[in-house]
Amino acid sequence: MATSPSTSAADRFDVILIGAGIMSTTLGAILKELEPNWSIGLFEKLDQAGQESSNPWNNAGTGHAALCELNYTPRGTDGQISTVKAQGINEQFHVSRQLWSHWVENGTLGSPRTFINALPHISFVWGDENAQYLQDRYEAMAAQPLFADIEHTEDHSVIGEWAPLLTRGRDSSQRVAASKFASGTDVDFGSLTRQLATHLDSAGVDIRYRHEVTSIRRGTDGRWQVTVKNSATGEKTTANSRFVFVGAGGGALGLLQASGIEEIKGFGGFPVSGKFLRATDSAVAEQHHAKVYGLASVGAPPMSVPHLDTRFVEGRRTLMFGPYAGFSTNFLKHGSFLDLPLSVRPHNLVPMLQVGKDNTDLVTYLVKEVTKSRKAKIEELHRFYPEADGDQWELITAGQRVQVMKKNEKGKGVLQFGTELVAAGDGSIAGLLGASPGASTAPSIMFKLLERCFPAQAEGWKPRLEQMVPSYGRLLNDDPTLLGEVTAATNKTLQLDV
Ligand SMILES: Cc1cc2nc3c(=O)[nH]c(=O)nc-3n(C[C@H](O)[C@H](O)[C@H](O)COP(=O)(O)OP(=O)(O)OC[C@H]3O[C@@H](n4cnc5c(N)ncnc54)[C@H](O)[C@@H]3O)c2cc1C
Repeated sequence: MATSPSTSAADRFDVILIGAGIMSTTLGAILKELEPNWSIGLFEKLDQAGQESSNPWNNAGTGHAALCELNYTPRGTDGQISTVKAQGINEQFHVSRQLWSHWVENGTLGSPRTFINALPHISFVWGDENAQYLQDRYEAMAAQPLFADIEHTEDHSVIGEWAPLLTRGRDSSQRVAASKFASGTDVDFGSLTRQLATHLDSAGVDIRYRHEVTSIRRGTDGRWQVTVKNSATGEKTTANSRFVFVGAGGGALGLLQASGIEEIKGFGGFPVSGKFLRATDSAVAEQHHAKVYGLASVGAPPMSVPHLDTRFVEGRRTLMFGPYAGFSTNFLKHGSFLDLPLSVRPHNLVPMLQVGKDNTDLVTYLVKEVTKSRKAKIEELHRFYPEADGDQWELITAGQRVQVMKKNEKGKGVLQFGTELVAAGDGSIAGLLGASPGASTAPSIMFKLLERCFPAQAEGWKPRLEQMVPSYGRLLNDDPTLLGEVTAATNKTLQLDV
């Protein structure tokens, strides 16, 4: 195959990964096992892996398994609680647990305690309507094998045993309700990402930090020509590859647009940043051992659900409350305020305007959040933790989430809160838009990408994938015996037995 004059032999790859977040490093590590001889290049604009959304302080570290997040179990128009979405996310988290266990066993990852910790997941609400919802949700979930270990109570003293900060100082006549899963987790996605990057480096992946991808074009030979700027020297070079994964987080939309693929047309991005209160006194953090998720306020997007969370970051235990939404036009924390305006194209302008028009409650919510005083933020914390001392909490800025705006089947612009895998029809380039449920489901998203982009290899890879993830291709909710086996095995390897 012909190379362009500016491309040396060393810059030809089988696979190029853009960005060193959890997505690219997960894909790289999977591919290295499936095809050890493929050459892989990874370009990251910052000087280390896992510094954007995958950094532990830029996300909430929840191992999203749909155990406590109430937006995954909505009440339908028929009045029934639907567990369908929750089941899908829980199945995906089981895939993550199996792949991470496999990587602990084969030495790709170090001690599980460096990236995952057992931590109860609790849903907590107050008021009659909300308590009734949680009771109905409990009954719907308990009927599913995946969620059979759910516990539920409306008793203040039991909730006080589960999470004392929730009930201390609370009016004992207030109707409260809580559901609990002892099987929840806290995940340090930054540590996971850095460990995977270290593994990729030792497995021969050509990792170049401080290298920003500035453009992607299809060469006349059909290979993708990726222009990369070395931020230390300012030098621009070109690398080429037959497959490109745009794992650039908030930077993915712009790069996919630059590639010119048809499939990105109509997509836009809407950035929402997150802020958290973090306890400054370790004595406060020591009194809480759970992730406690509540209900989002009216008009608020699902990712703004308030939660009081124990976190384990770099071996230290902390306590966080939030998120509070912020607004900036950056698509990346280390991005530019021009990111949003520069993402507007003739093909996404109308859908983006429609989203603005149809989501006035979201806009109102954001304006309120951005102008919320520190006093109002602490008042919100008091609704979860009535005796919180505002002086013992500091405000930190987390990462940027770029919510997906896209055309629906009727051609109308809609806002979406999930993750969207966008791939060219021929599978030669793919990227990921959106943020939720995010890092927790990175393995499942990457397996989906492999099926979409490498159909010719899929059948041949299957036996190896089944070794990596014993339940690969099967639903655990339909097979309680297998569910029990993989749960027991991953609990043991990941040291999650509680
Ligand atoms: C406030 C907040 C809370 C969250 N909470 C959770 C949670 O509790 N649980 C959960 O599972 N998920 C959570 N998420 C989502 C999760 O953090 C993301 O889904 C995940 O980290 C995305 O990983 P990524 O690899 O796609 O992107 P990132 O981690 O953002 O990595 C992208 C990388 O690409 C690099 N890059 C960008 N542009 C270029 C370029 N042009 N050239 C080279 N490199 C480039 C960036 O520097 C970065 O290193 C949260 C996100 C936010 C913002």
